[in-house]
Amino acid sequence: MGGRKIIIIGGGIIGSSLGYELVKRGESVTIVEQTDLASGASGAAAGMLAADCEHFEHSELQNLARLSRDLIPALVHEVKEISGIDAGLNQQGFLTPARDNLEAEELQARIIAEATGQWWVPEQLAAAEPALAKGLSGAIYRSEEIQVMPSKLTEALAFSAQATGAVLLRQTEVTRIQVHNKRVEGVQTSRGFLPCDQVVLAGGWGTEQLLQPLGLSFPLEPVKGEIVEVQSSVPLLQATLYAKSIYIVPKPGNKLWIGATSIPGDSSQGVFADSIVRLISEAAKWIPDLRHAQFERAWAGHRPKSPDGLPYIGGFQELQGLYAAAGHYRNGILLSAITATMLANEMEGKDTPGINLDAFRPDRFQRQLEGGVLR
Ligand SMILES: Cc1cc2nc3c(=O)[nH]c(=O)nc-3n(C[C@H](O)[C@H](O)[C@H](O)COP(=O)(O)OP(=O)(O)OC[C@H]3O[C@@H](n4cnc5c(N)ncnc54)[C@H](O)[C@@H]3O)c2cc1C
Repeated sequence: MGGRKIIIIGGGIIGSSLGYELVKRGESVTIVEQTDLASGASGAAAGMLAADCEHFEHSELQNLARLSRDLIPALVHEVKEISGIDAGLNQQGFLTPARDNLEAEELQARIIAEATGQWWVPEQLAAAEPALAKGLSGAIYRSEEIQVMPSKLTEALAFSAQATGAVLLRQTEVTRIQVHNKRVEGVQTSRGFLPCDQVVLAGGWGTEQLLQPLGLSFPLEPVKGEIVEVQSSVPLLQATLYAKSIYIVPKPGNKLWIGATSIPGDSSQGVFADSIVRLISEAAKWIPDLRHAQFERAWAGHRPKSPDGLPYIGGFQELQGLYAAAGHYRNGILLSAITATMLANEMEGKDTPGINLDAFRPDRFQRQLEGGVLR
């Protein structure tokens, strides 16, 4: 295949990954972004590719998460070569520490049940991470888990797509999807009409509005999340700390990102003062010296969540040429690489070997509604 005109709505991590994948396959790609790259959830994320720490209950999603995480390091190097943008890949692994012996037993049982990670005894933990609180009872160390600077990765992918031949339209809003005889014809934008053969909805939370005039829907709810950034004069953490109630992610320049809150249904933009207090005091329980770090900034974003928590990936049965890649909830950075591969395959009419996309169909709730299953 190749040479089809494809419009991707949204310059977040998902639209940018897909744009780069499709243009590499010889397609004619335009990415349309209403404001700027990574201005939505992708610019608010912590950038963790926590395929094992996240404990996906859905087995196919767990499979996708590991596949995707393992694709990212090579992709980061590839797009750095093309775009010159360094996505800040950190391969120091993830730690889940135990406060007491009971927690240590639970975590050790998890290593056996999940067959991932290794147990670090307290002495090993203290030697590797001397700034951690004293008296911890050990930790799970997961060497395969990685993390990136999510805005940088989004930009690196989008600019690599552009350098490979894609058109990147920023400050351009898609206002309508034009269809004729149950086929996509193009999109109306704030800068005029763009004809195309295929359209991909990758606009994150809020994209659903474009479906309403077509009689289609994929429900998404915003789940607000807030992160605090502090900077210390010396490095306080090498690996990412992924505990039950909090994560602390080391970033370049002795910065630590402390996150995140989770407030379902809240689409407000600001950061609550109470969230800052709670995040910093919880983080300081793990790293006491963090109290002497400088507060740098705090921000909020909205995770796009579907009713079953699974992303929408694939084509709409009722409308030829219309596809979705949205609703990646807590893990859009992690799932971006495999989403791009799978959807690009589907848009070429191919399956992805070993992967069944049925659970992720974008019209799954609509079909249930029409079948009277949902009320
Ligand atoms: C606090 C927080 C922490 C997170 N941490 C992680 C993490 O550590 N790891 C991880 O994997 N995930 C994380 N996530 C989740 C992740 O950020 C999202 O799943 C992911 O960014 C979704 O990407 P997206 O491209 O679908 O959406 P977005 O990044 O929201 O991008 C959509 C883009 O589409 C544009 N757009 C929308 N409508 C239109 C239109 N009509 N016309 C043109 N453009 C349009 C928007 O401006 C936006 O730029 C986190 C999220 C939050 C909020």
